[in-house]
Amino acid sequence: MSRTLPTEVTRLRETVAALHAELVRYHLVAWTAGNVSARVPGHDLMVIKPSGVSYDDLRPDNMIVCDLDGVVVDGDLSPSSDTAAHAYVYRAMPEVGGVVHTHSNYATAWAACGESIPCHLTAQADEFGGEIPVGPFALIGGDDIGKGIVATLSGHRSPAVLMRNHGVFTIGKDARAAVKAAVMCEDVARTAHLARTLGTPVPMTQADIDSLYDRYQNVYGQPGSGSAKS
Ligand SMILES: [Zn+2]
Repeated sequence: MSRTLPTEVTRLRETVAALHAELVRYHLVAWTAGNVSARVPGHDLMVIKPSGVSYDDLRPDNMIVCDLDGVVVDGDLSPSSDTAAHAYVYRAMPEVGGVVHTHSNYATAWAACGESIPCHLTAQADEFGGEIPVGPFALIGGDDIGKGIVATLSGHRSPAVLMRNHGVFTIGKDARAAVKAAVMCEDVARTAHLARTLGTPVPMTQADIDSLYDRYQNVYGQPGSGSAKS
């Protein structure tokens, strides 16, 4: 446990601890469910939430550092029970720098029905580039959840997958982007549900979805801000 850690770990412990508060602020989690992780750039390591600790008690110093096989490298507590899924995603998708998991209510209701969220909103076209897909049913423990996430999101525009009968996993270039995707996924899922209860949502053309996605991903935002989307 006394291995020398990369200096970025200090910053990432602070970032990951603080981002968990966003899950609470946006009402995406209940009790201790839900978790955020961040890859340590340039190292086969990640920073993730400890298992079973109240959100009020999460601090930079109790975040857990694991290798990308999910083995604890630094930290006094057990890592999140979803660590294997996060680790699998980092191993299989080198472009991913952050992973988030929640059981946020509306998105998870779609997952319970095994139904992708069709794209009927400009905000969904912007952020997800089309439908938010459903992934396979998988039991927690081994690599099955990670495999299902990677199989569904590889080559897909959406940074969010609704794992069937379970909940939401999101990915991003960093942990903050993955948290944003989790927040936006729940927002879209809620509106899509309300639209269904009100009537029949009107389809959008693929050309319009493509145009919105391209503009938002490549043009929208402050010039020179690097990360455009907000
Ligand atoms: Zn879960």
